[in-house]
Amino acid sequence: MKTETIAIHGGNIIKSSTGDVTQPLSLSTTFVRDENGEYPGGHMYSRVSNPNRASLEKLLANLEHGIEACAFASGNAAGMSVFQALKPGSHIIAPDDMYWGFKKQLQTIFADSLVIDFVDLTQLDLVESYIKPNTVMIWTETPSNPLLKITDILGISAIARKHKLVLACDSTFASPCLQNPILLGADIVMHSTTKYIGGHSDVIGGALITAKKDELWEKIRNIQQVGGSVPSPFDCFLLVRSIKTLPHRMRGHCSNGMALARFLENHPKIEAVYYPGLPSHPQHEIARSQMSDFGGMLSILVKGSVEETKRVVNSVRLFAQATSLGGIESLIEHRYSIEGPDTKTPKNLLRISVGLENIDDLIADFEQALN
Ligand SMILES: *Cc1c(COP(=O)(O)O)cnc(C)c1O
Repeated sequence: MKTETIAIHGGNIIKSSTGDVTQPLSLSTTFVRDENGEYPGGHMYSRVSNPNRASLEKLLANLEHGIEACAFASGNAAGMSVFQALKPGSHIIAPDDMYWGFKKQLQTIFADSLVIDFVDLTQLDLVESYIKPNTVMIWTETPSNPLLKITDILGISAIARKHKLVLACDSTFASPCLQNPILLGADIVMHSTTKYIGGHSDVIGGALITAKKDELWEKIRNIQQVGGSVPSPFDCFLLVRSIKTLPHRMRGHCSNGMALARFLENHPKIEAVYYPGLPSHPQHEIARSQMSDFGGMLSILVKGSVEETKRVVNSVRLFAQATSLGGIESLIEHRYSIEGPDTKTPKNLLRISVGLENIDDLIADFEQALN
């Protein structure tokens, strides 16, 4: 089945006597045993599994062409479960522009147990030179934040396979509709479901999807069920509901993203636009080969000082100044102010999550803000 069909039908595991067409919300924390002590509904206790989480996990596994998924209470909890599953002393290669929350986890929570090298993963020949005897995993993130760098998943999966390393891919910016890392050789795909998958800025969640049920995956499942960083049935219900429109929302995000990127690229007050759909993007050809479209995230450099950059943020009216991304409403953020003086993010960079408003209104808003 194609993505739109999977999005609508791929999550239903309906066992109801009332003829529900959609997966009902089951809030029960516990489930009854039959006379033999078995659980006829397949669920024992809601932290371990429940109908709405099972529905979400089945749907995400189908969408990413994996075989199983684990849903978590946040994207951060999903990523942390992977790092927790690694043996102490393991070495990981991670992107130099890794999502800051994961970088912070690795540098603080895992500082004494894991060894990490942050590497520019767009330089494939560089990656191999970092592999050591204790290297177990390459963690990628593509497109990356905030410069929208693209990692060649197929290329890096060949390196991972050659050295028997696990390849994990944070595919949050792409959503399951624009790229499927498992089909390109990744072992584990990670999503912050808070972003495009939820899509309405009202759920925090995360997920991992696996290509195979191996020892690492069993450990991750155990961390989910016993660690207990799980989403509520209502969060799972909302996510399954949101995913039904995900392929159509992504079309809108992509077409608005491309149109705004083109407009800004030609504007005299803009120094640079980072959007993988533009031919000027350094990895545009790789993006074209592994993504079906380019998403709604872009970053721009405003010509001028930090003050002038902040003036743009404060002059747009339809773009809310807020963190996060992937929702139906457009957001804008001055990343340097958030990340602080240690960051490599340019001072005149603005990150934009292009929403689903009419593109003419979005462009007109930027036009007045830049003037
Ligand atoms: C937001 C985000 C995360 C973390 O997800 P939360 O749901 O905020 O915990 C991880 N990776 C990327 C690329 C993100 O954008």
